[in-house]
Amino acid sequence: MDHIYLDHAATTRPDTASVEAMLPYLNGEYQNPSAIYQPAVKIRAKISSIRADIAGFLNTSPSSIFFTSGGTESDNWAVRGAAHIMRSKGRHIISTSIEHPAVLNTLKSLESEGYEVTYLPVDKNGIVSVSDIEAAIKDDTILISVMHANNEIGTIEPVEQIGRIANGRGILFHVDAVQTFGHIPIDVEKLNVDFLSASSHKIYGPKGCGILYIKNPSSFVKILYGGSQENGMRPGTENVPAIMGFGEAVNIARTRINDDLAHDMKLRKLFMDKLTEEVPGVKFNGSKESVLPGILSVTFEGVTAETLLIILDSNGICASAGSACAAGAIEPSHVLMSCGMDKESASRTVRFSTGRENTEEDIIFTVKVIGDYFRGRSKS
Ligand SMILES: *Cc1c(COP(=O)(O)O)cnc(C)c1O
Repeated sequence: MDHIYLDHAATTRPDTASVEAMLPYLNGEYQNPSAIYQPAVKIRAKISSIRADIAGFLNTSPSSIFFTSGGTESDNWAVRGAAHIMRSKGRHIISTSIEHPAVLNTLKSLESEGYEVTYLPVDKNGIVSVSDIEAAIKDDTILISVMHANNEIGTIEPVEQIGRIANGRGILFHVDAVQTFGHIPIDVEKLNVDFLSASSHKIYGPKGCGILYIKNPSSFVKILYGGSQENGMRPGTENVPAIMGFGEAVNIARTRINDDLAHDMKLRKLFMDKLTEEVPGVKFNGSKESVLPGILSVTFEGVTAETLLIILDSNGICASAGSACAAGAIEPSHVLMSCGMDKESASRTVRFSTGRENTEEDIIFTVKVIGDYFRGRSKS
């Protein structure tokens, strides 16, 4: 049976064109891009052209784009690097309680090294208050790190306003844009960010590849030491096949971004309407307006997410409770708890995340499976 994949916030199926763009580099074009011979020069030129494409997509220059092993490394690099270069000015960092573990756990490690972190709460829709950010700023605040959109509930944070404040106060600003890059248009100039993290596998590219945008690379630091790749800022032989696949995925995203958004919006509306119609007591989490349409967080009545996910799985439907990174963990989602949900309701919450390959039939079938479960239960 073909699966119905409703877990795009965890990862996406690589686009066929992205896979095809990788294939030559797994095989014939294997040379080390740092070498001097022609085949290597060709690969180096191709990497440069992808860097330029990504820079154009973000409205910046190629010298600000650095390839990494993915969103996690980009987050670590931005946060640790910023803390390091600013340490003589201060040790205070502002973030939110709903960040991805790649940011949260990096901040925790900095706390153990003497930094002070303010984790701002969010409202019931998962939105951090801009005035809370302003109020949290102290003389020794050096960095603000706020995610663009949350991976569990899809809420989009007011990063443009936060960027203006950070910029005005001379505080560095990092945005984890892993869920939004390639999904909604991003202009790093408009956002006033100093650092922005993105990942390939959340936009129909291969895993193990991402970028960090660095506004002023000449005044930044590396956190990995080795060779002189990535303009001396990120050592290690380039993951050439993944960069090729990522580049193709970015170019596809660029042409499809509005169609993808419209598609997810249509599916979201259908999903919400059908669930409301067929399943008693459903509750939708996150913001209604400021949201990535592809992420739908639903709390069900009287059934645990675990039970529902097993039923969905036995019908070939892939979805998650909370995030993939928390799957298998017994701890309730820190994101849902931050939105004021109690543990018990959090344990009844499922995240559905749609994408390009999903159809209206997928949604209708998924809701039917859930509806059948509830109807069967009310009979017995
Ligand atoms: C997936 C994700 C990451 C981690 O990216 P990887 O490329 O898997 O390391 C970081 N932040 C957010 C918001 C994510 O959704």
